[in-house]
Formats: sequence, C-alpha cells, structure tokens
Amino acid sequence: MLFQRLTIILGHLPVTYRAPLSAHTSLKAAQRTFATTPTWRTMRVVPVPNQADNYAYLLIDETTKKAAVLDPYDVGKVKRYAQKEGVELVSALTTHHHHDHSGGNLEFALEHPGITVVGGSNAVPALTKKVGDGDVFTVGEDISVKCLATPCHTQDSICYYATSKSKPEQPGLVFTGDTLFQAGCGRFFEGNAEEMHKALSYLGTLPDNTIVYNGHEYTNSSMKFGKHVDPENPAFQKLDHLVKTEEQTCGKSTIGDEKSWNVFMRLTSSAVQKATGESDEVAAMKKLRDLKNSFRG
Ligand SMILES: [Zn+2]
Repeated sequence: MLFQRLTIILGHLPVTYRAPLSAHTSLKAAQRTFATTPTWRTMRVVPVPNQADNYAYLLIDETTKKAAVLDPYDVGKVKRYAQKEGVELVSALTTHHHHDHSGGNLEFALEHPGITVVGGSNAVPALTKKVGDGDVFTVGEDISVKCLATPCHTQDSICYYATSKSKPEQPGLVFTGDTLFQAGCGRFFEGNAEEMHKALSYLGTLPDNTIVYNGHEYTNSSMKFGKHVDPENPAFQKLDHLVKTEEQTCGKSTIGDEKSWNVFMRLTSSAVQKATGESDEVAAMKKLRDLKNSFRG
C-alpha cells in the first residue's frame, strides 16, 4: 500500500511550472521551477503546436486524467501527446470554423466514435454539441468550462473559460482561438470593429489572473505593432523578455497582462488615440485594425 502511494506521488516529479506573467509577478518568480505539482493545480494544459504557427491544446483534468482537446487539427500528433500524458480524450472543443482550426474534426471524430465535438455553429465539421454564450459543461469531473461567444473574426467564434470546481482559487484558463492573441487580435473576417471591441471587452471582464491560450504564435509580430503604436508603454519590457526567452509564449500571460500591453484592449489610452486620431473607441478599433493589416514592422 505504501509503495503504491509513493509511486503515485513520485509519478508527478519533477514538474517544471512556469507561472504566467502578471503585474505582481517578477520575471524571476515567473520562471521558478517547483519541485512538485502545486497542490491547487487540478487543471493542466499541454500545447500541441501544429502547421506553421497554430496551437491545439490538451485541457487535462488531473483528478480523472480525462482531457478535452482544443482544435485538434493534427489528429496523429494530438494522439501522441495524449498517450505521452497518459490521458483519455473525451471531447473536442472548436474555437471557430476556419479550416486551420476545425479541419481535423472529422478525422478526430472518426478515430473516436461517439465523442463530443463542441462548437459555435453548424459550419464546424463533425459537430455534436452546438454551444452559445453562457453555456457551461464539465471536462472530466473537476473542470467547469463556460462558453463565451465572441463573434467577429468569425460569427461562430467561441472562447472557452475553464475553472476548477474543487480548487476555485486556481487561476482560470481561457482559450481564445483567433479572437484574442497575446498583444493582438484576429482579423475581422465576418464581423466589424464594434463586435471586436465588444468581444475583447467581454474577455476583459474575466479575472486579471486568467491565463490566456490563443490560437497562433503571433506574439512577436503583434508586439512589434504594439510597440509602434505605444512605444512608451513599459509593459512591453516584460513581453519582450517573454518573446526572447520562450519559443512558445502561449499560456505565459494573463488577461491582466493583455490589458497592460494589448493596444486593441487599450482604445482609450492616449497612445492609441494619438496613433489612430480617433477618440471614439469603435472608430479607434477600426483604424487600429487597418493600421495592423498594412503594418510591415
Ligand atoms: Zn481563424
């Protein structure tokens, strides 16, 4: 009995935990290596990079070793990652219908007959569970996932906000697809500036310590544009360090960080108003997006 317990405990060692950056977290503390899994940690995320710069993610309920996968484009790679982590995949969560995110759904569903495929519209391949704003479901036993409708990049864009039921003090996690990027936002393919302003403001209502997992590794280019618009913002020092030291920046910043450096969430700042020549927030959002589209930093 004693040996079984030891095996279970040792099975979790060693774990490197990189805390997300926040206004109250020094860079040194953010890079601290913990000897064990923090006791509050019942949710874990494993990024699965695919294609040129896309991210799928495993969202793991540590209590049951069941996991949802976000945007499982490369089904073989997702399977290998799940096997390596020793988790059972129980659902696929689709951030939006674009092929580079939902293009693996059909193959995934065929590989996992009867599995739940979640998404915001019937344009999502293999959809079994259509969700809308405010819908809530559970992954495993402990992870509560709330759907946040953020139409603009596509009309079916859904952000998934995950929290732990048993350890509510654990920071929440938000999967933002192509709506919110670190220091940027998605293009307005099916929407307008007013909708993106609404979407990012909505994400801004999440607790500041919510950890952000976005759909692409665009952070470096987004930061260059941000610095161009808001060169005096000291928050970019932290982001600059993150970009220089981490190949994958996803999951290493928070909603609070985004509010400090993401120009698309800082429409009332004097820097954005000056760069866009607009004091109206929606007009500033439109101009900012146009400037980003033509920016060749
Ligand atoms: Zn997209």
